[in-house]
Amino acid sequence: MSVAIEKVKCLIIGSGPAGYTAAIYAARANMNPVMYMGSQPGGQLTTTNEVENFPGYPEGITGPAMMEELKAQAERFETDVREGWVTKVDFSGDVHKVWINDDKEIHCETVIVSTGASAKYLGLPSEQKYLKMGGGVSACAVCDGFFYKNQEVILVGAGDSACEEAHYLSKICKKVTMLVRRDEFRASKIMATRVQNTENIEILFNTETVEVLGDDYGVTGARVKNKVTGEEKDIPATGFFVAIGHKPNTDIFKEYLTLDETGYIVNVCGTAKTNVEGVFVCGDAADHVYRQAITAAGTGCMAALDAERYLAAKEG
Ligand code: NDP
Repeated sequence: MSVAIEKVKCLIIGSGPAGYTAAIYAARANMNPVMYMGSQPGGQLTTTNEVENFPGYPEGITGPAMMEELKAQAERFETDVREGWVTKVDFSGDVHKVWINDDKEIHCETVIVSTGASAKYLGLPSEQKYLKMGGGVSACAVCDGFFYKNQEVILVGAGDSACEEAHYLSKICKKVTMLVRRDEFRASKIMATRVQNTENIEILFNTETVEVLGDDYGVTGARVKNKVTGEEKDIPATGFFVAIGHKPNTDIFKEYLTLDETGYIVNVCGTAKTNVEGVFVCGDAADHVYRQAITAAGTGCMAALDAERYLAAKEG
């Protein structure tokens, strides 16, 4: 049975702070936005426990609760928020075609891509256990570092992000132990030198994580192994930070949208426009630098305003 093609003025793909902010603005501009939430409704923030740096929440709010509030605000202006996963797009013509769950076809006048990025994790069962528990595993020092004030933490990674996060944590925590899997950093020299010169950062080269250790309350440390000597040891810590890179969720767009070498969508500087007219991008799908909820929300606003202006110009 063939399903009827639906026509939509503004389709929003992804449901993090960027997508919901775009929805609020688009809905209030009578663009009748339809949002598909994707495989992780609410986005990366739903894996964050407490959000304390989003303006307007003086007491802080949990990531999932904040996403519920953003959803309610978008629905208040009649955003059509739907479950579903965009599996294919065709941006080759005037009408932008999008397929949901390999089945339903939607023809869109404008598309706002807010598919975000996913932090990479080591994939160890113990790491995933404490991540899901909200018990001490994090991929964002700026978001969660504060909870480890004057405590000892571990940070895995050796790129620019890892060095930046280690340095950030060193100003809050008593000690940061940095686990570098090779005998050298990947980070730029200036960033690597900065962590090497920081007194309360200890760097362990050639070292990989065997297991994240913990109890019923959360992380208590990690068992690590020196790959050269084979020696294993336990390092006490209450926080286990992973900074081994992010992967933008942009694979389905690569045939049509210009991506940079890491897969982030390239926007026209200072706007949310992509290389395809009528297709806009916001949030972490285009941002490997700031990656914050508030910056994602800001670019979500830009995407909706750019989409509105595009429609207004088209309609004359
Ligand atoms: P990168 O890909 O540059 O670095 C990832 C790091 O994680 C590498 O050192 C890698 O090790 C390590 N790693 C990967 N997998 C594992 C694993 N399973 N176990 C242990 N270690 C692992 O990612 P970043 O997020 O650091 O940076 C992404 C981009 O953003 C880069 O171009 C970077 O320069 C840029 N950036 C720039 C900043 C700035 O200029 N202020 C700040 C932050 C990022 P290995 O080296 O062995 O492969």
